[in-house]
Amino acid sequence: MSLPSKPVYTGGCQCGAVRFRVEGALGSVSICHCRMCQKAFGAFYAPLATAPENGLEWTRGAPKRYRSSNHVLRGFCAECGTPLTYEAPDGVALAIGAFDDPASVAPTKQWGIEAKLPYVDDLAALSSDRTETDGAASFLADLESFQHPDHDTESWPPKDRT
Ligand SMILES: [Zn+2]
Ligand SMILES: [Zn+2]
Repeated sequence: MSLPSKPVYTGGCQCGAVRFRVEGALGSVSICHCRMCQKAFGAFYAPLATAPENGLEWTRGAPKRYRSSNHVLRGFCAECGTPLTYEAPDGVALAIGAFDDPASVAPTKQWGIEAKLPYVDDLAALSSDRTETDGAASFLADLESFQHPDHDTESWPPKDRT
């Protein structure tokens, strides 16, 4: 008899200096509209997935942390600034956008709606286009991404860049 294998998730920051691995089922998967999450993510709301207890491992580097309140730390990459964690007494939540496969981590709950920005519910109705159709951004034609790929890598920083 073999035990069912636990789900495994990987992810990290934009530059690749900080990487994580989660083993086990994620807890609460949500977005938070509160004003502190807006600031910490520089965004309309924070997308967060709670890591299973003892299931989170930092496989490269570790986040720098800002104490945003007496109970909460906010983790981010000190090299590139990517928001990575919300660390509270009841657990550590990871930024969904930092996962290698964020499409597999769908939120099921909203928090902090007292601070929800008035236009958030209308975003899906905005005019929508693909990146390459932005004619004003001619630099996109020869754009070279320095972003870390969406999988674990042998070494960091990349040898072909400084
Ligand atoms: Zn980074
Ligand atoms: Zn919040």
